[in-house]
Amino acid sequence: MKTIDTIYVNGAFVKPHGTEVFDLINPTDNQLIGKVTLGNETDTDAAITAAKAAFKTFSQTSKEQRIAYLQQLHDVVKNREAEFIEVMVKEYGGTLHFCTMSVQNALSGFTSAIEVLKTFEFQKMVGKSKVMLQPLGVVGIITPWNASNGFICSKLAMTIASGSTAVIKPSEMSAQQTQLLLECFHEAGLPNGVFNVVNGRGDVVGATIVNHRDVAKISFTGSTAVGKFIARSAVDTMKRVTLELGGKSPNILLDDVNMDDAIPMAVSAAYMNSGQACIAGTRLLVPESRLEEVKELLIETVEQVKVGNPASSDTVVGPMVSQKQYERVQKYIELGLEEGAELLIGGPGKPEGLEAGNFVKPTVFVNVNNNMRIAREEIFGPVLSVITYKTEEEAIEIANDTDYGLQAYVNSANVLRAKKVASQIVAGRVLINGLYHDPMAPFGGFKQSGIGREMGVYGLEEYVEPKTILV
Ligand code: NAD
Repeated sequence: MKTIDTIYVNGAFVKPHGTEVFDLINPTDNQLIGKVTLGNETDTDAAITAAKAAFKTFSQTSKEQRIAYLQQLHDVVKNREAEFIEVMVKEYGGTLHFCTMSVQNALSGFTSAIEVLKTFEFQKMVGKSKVMLQPLGVVGIITPWNASNGFICSKLAMTIASGSTAVIKPSEMSAQQTQLLLECFHEAGLPNGVFNVVNGRGDVVGATIVNHRDVAKISFTGSTAVGKFIARSAVDTMKRVTLELGGKSPNILLDDVNMDDAIPMAVSAAYMNSGQACIAGTRLLVPESRLEEVKELLIETVEQVKVGNPASSDTVVGPMVSQKQYERVQKYIELGLEEGAELLIGGPGKPEGLEAGNFVKPTVFVNVNNNMRIAREEIFGPVLSVITYKTEEEAIEIANDTDYGLQAYVNSANVLRAKKVASQIVAGRVLINGLYHDPMAPFGGFKQSGIGREMGVYGLEEYVEPKTILV
């Protein structure tokens, strides 16, 4: 069992003033695997003070110096890649496959920031004026438990690239991963105070960061509900906000598609990270004329989905992160039945033999109407809703009939046709005929999926503020 009783302030591991202890539970068997002492308002204040002091000199560093720091951060994480994967699998029950990918994404956060910095112009002439793109100051980074390290690394990378400094509040459920990350970051030898980390509750540490007048910006990834709360609170000090929130991504199968390819891809998109992904393709839009074929293939594919020990390389669906999350998903499955959707496979309860952990049966509902709550709300579990459409126009209309707009998927035998459909989808990213990630391209949501973009040059622009100098 691992006990974490330090936070990281001004370049050192220190004991927090906070005394509340949070249990870390392995979701695969619900056994206690560690404890973390949570920081409080005083700890958060100290971290912000350190970041503010460090900003004075760090904001003056050259681009080349910051590229060197980013490279060091990348290398220290890379050296311990295997350990990260092991801790993540154990701490939140992410599958080996997903955790491996997640560490790659964490590393690409640094490499993409380096690439962007190489050509980014912090000063340019616009008309008769000199425009300087200035770092914002102290950035508050607040992250969720799913793929926690990836978000911390990509947000910290852009903070550093801009010349700003950071106070990070990770999810308390990710404490062991964060600790490992901190050991690496510490080794990278950045100036004291450039990054500080306070483990703690959202309504204590998170809220202190959001309300603090010395924090210039919040970079948040998490639920839409908390994102809205943060946006409202941030207004008081007029903080800049980047909000990466929830999703209910449509996956449109056009009528010409090869279903033998599209259905396994659709199942992978829906069940990625055991369904606990903001970009999961949870609404499958199927031409009415091909529904029977789709149903058969879905049963065949989902029956093959291996549920169980996330450490096994062939596991597709691991446990839900917590008992609470398990119960939430169960409620949605019950709700789907109450709303009149037809259960194709899966359903309530735990899969046989997996009663000790927070396992959910991979579930597919058909005859789902886009107005049902299971089609409108983010479930964050392995539950796929199949919705039929008659025409391409109707498919686009249903895809866009959502409060979210983070990601969408379009599948067709004709890429040009798929691109035309993609251009009409209201979402920050549309994937055609596959699952991809491009760390240089902007990522973020339309509508209630968020504000702002991360990654690549658009990501860096969110961390700087233009200042005009006229002589
Ligand atoms: P959450 O919103 O419950 O928590 C996210 C973080 O916010 C945690 O660190 C939490 O402690 C903190 N927090 C909670 N209340 C706060 C408050 N009042 N003030 C400040 N901080 C507060 O989300 P979660 O359950 O950890 O993660 C799952 C959610 O994250 C899902 O909705 C998912 O879609 C979303 N998500 C979005 C993206 C994206 O890039 N758009 C990526 C991953 C996850």
